[in-house]
Amino acid sequence: MSENVIIEFDKVVKRFGKYTVLDELSFKIQPGEKVTIIGPSGSGKSTVLRILMTLETINGGVVYVDGKPLWHEKAADGSLRPASEAHLRQLRTMLGMVFQQFNLFPHMTVLRNITEAPVQVLGLPKAEARQRAEELLELVGLTDQMHKYPHQLSGGQQQRVGIARALAMRPKVLLFDEPTSALDPELVGEVLRVIRRLAEEHDLTMLLVTHEMRFAREISDRVMFFDQGRICEQGTPEQLFSSPTKERTREFLRSTL
Ligand code: ADP
Ligand code: MG
Repeated sequence: MSENVIIEFDKVVKRFGKYTVLDELSFKIQPGEKVTIIGPSGSGKSTVLRILMTLETINGGVVYVDGKPLWHEKAADGSLRPASEAHLRQLRTMLGMVFQQFNLFPHMTVLRNITEAPVQVLGLPKAEARQRAEELLELVGLTDQMHKYPHQLSGGQQQRVGIARALAMRPKVLLFDEPTSALDPELVGEVLRVIRRLAEEHDLTMLLVTHEMRFAREISDRVMFFDQGRICEQGTPEQLFSSPTKERTREFLRSTL
């Protein structure tokens, strides 16, 4: 695989029982690229992100992160397993994920939500983790909320904490799974503004699942349209949204209007 690829799916197969969710799915993402996945519900979008976060294993093919395969060995049930926990841990630190349902720790303050993993997982000194957290809270516009608990915040604020928390681990790749789908419409904008700001950062690689088509169009270098566990069509936002070549893509885009 070439050096200029940070994420690669090579003929990845994922099954749940007899049901094939990903059907020899292949794609590559370059460092710094902003890629959006769109597609109907059940087409395998979340599964791709969950596989990258090693929340799911795979049944065939290879997933590479920074040129290294996530899984090597076949287990007795035919699924692939990590070569070692240490190897997985190391690759995992390259990736951060922002979930649809925020997934904040409810019993921790905003500040602690952000400093916890850097201190516990990366072994960062507390003062350094706190300084970094304060910078990130400024970035997401929540400096004045840092001593509150998640339930005292709006959904939009909670999701901005979720983004700061993911960034606190200094990932090379940030994954977003429908980050605004759980929000009331009036709170979507504040979260999209933060993500847009991150997208302008050249170093960060972003893989984002969203139903916000206009947003996808504005921030993406590339859009992949998923259908039934395969990439039905992909291209620049201009190509995909303005002149889709597949009838299935056109049909999907019409349904989102
Ligand atoms: P999307 O995010 O595109 O809506 P998903 O990746 O969540 O789709 O799911 C793809 C398909 O896999 C769906 O049909 C879903 O029901 C199925 N699926 C996802 N996770 C599981 C699971 N843990 N067990 C069984 N089926 C699952
Ligand atoms: Mg999903």
